[in-house]
Amino acid sequence: MISQKLAPFGTTIFAEMTALAQEHGAINLAQGFPDFEGPPEVVEAAVEALRGGENQYARSRGHPALVHAVSDYYRKIYGLDYDPMDEVVIFSGATEGIAASLLGILNPGDEVILFEPFYDSYPPCLALAGAVPRFVTLRFPDFRLDPDDLWARITPKTRMIVLNTPMNPTGKVFDAGELETIAEVCREFDLLALTDEVYEHLTFDGARHIPLASLPGMRERTLTLSSAGKTFSFTGWKIGWGVGPKAMVDGAQAAHQFLTYAVPTPLQKAVAFALGHCAEDYLTRFRAEYARRRDFLTSVLQEVGFRLRPPQGTYFILADFRQVFSGDDREFAYWLTREHGVAALPPRSFYHADPEEPRHLTRFAFCKKMETLEEAAQRLRRLAR
Ligand code: PMP
Ligand code: GLN
Repeated sequence: MISQKLAPFGTTIFAEMTALAQEHGAINLAQGFPDFEGPPEVVEAAVEALRGGENQYARSRGHPALVHAVSDYYRKIYGLDYDPMDEVVIFSGATEGIAASLLGILNPGDEVILFEPFYDSYPPCLALAGAVPRFVTLRFPDFRLDPDDLWARITPKTRMIVLNTPMNPTGKVFDAGELETIAEVCREFDLLALTDEVYEHLTFDGARHIPLASLPGMRERTLTLSSAGKTFSFTGWKIGWGVGPKAMVDGAQAAHQFLTYAVPTPLQKAVAFALGHCAEDYLTRFRAEYARRRDFLTSVLQEVGFRLRPPQGTYFILADFRQVFSGDDREFAYWLTREHGVAALPPRSFYHADPEEPRHLTRFAFCKKMETLEEAAQRLRRLAR
């Protein structure tokens, strides 16, 4: 008994592939979650909060300690100023942030630009909001944004652009020129922007993450989302946040108060601690460890015959598998999981406008211990012809 709005979206591919990986004892490179722990001192901060009586509802918009820490963090890292009490909101992960922002800000009939491939929760949340997606397809292997494709999608009903950079599943990091194209369109047509920046610290080879909100004229029209799941490797905590102009934060909060009201108090306290201690050396180490994992899996995949561009960001690699398998993305992912003990993700759930584009592509997640990746490499090397 599923609502007409949600029925077309079925079960999320992440749950499907993780269940399949478990059923076959496969190494799960399908769902993006680390198989290692985040910083132990952050876990200690959570334990302290749990033991210290911080166990009742938090302030709906976010525990004061966390909204202050988020505000300080944006000032310190990006030089962006947000009022902690009015311009920050804490969500149950970026996932709730996406839902609350779209539900709380959009009106039925509003058109929203999505870059394809998109994160899988955007279209169902737009459907719940009664809004209409308009797709701009970015193509393998470089996923460059053609400004004409974007301009061509704008209509009098366009209200918002949703941007994910660094981008899942492509590993693309939008560069300054592409961001300026998006900002120019937003300014020209008076559009809002919702940016999903959960991989903000996962960039490689000198690629730099630039928040869209930092471009001229964008701070007042951009709601920026991020999450402790990626930066501190606590995906199971589901602590995310949004920062933006008060009017947009009020919109997201209007939905958030009725979706979850507030998110776990002790975990908010611990993430406040983590952000306060999110020093340069933690982030430098974090990036270096991920660069090593990326380089390793990239070279194994290339050696086996996958065609790919090493990702500039995120913890995903999108690869063309045609040299090792002749079938579509779903058949490939099932075959690899069942026959070779490595689960990968079929990217078709990230596409709508051009269903041909993902047919020969697969996504691998490298947010895993080196020993997990080494074991996966041994299994993948058997594919080489
Ligand atoms: N956006 C993107 C692009 C993601 O890849 C993910 C996956 N974790 C999320 C949002 C969800 O983040 P969270 O786990 O904080 O809900
Ligand atoms: N964001 C993660 C991924 O892309 C998984 C999120 C989820 O399972 N919902 O793999």
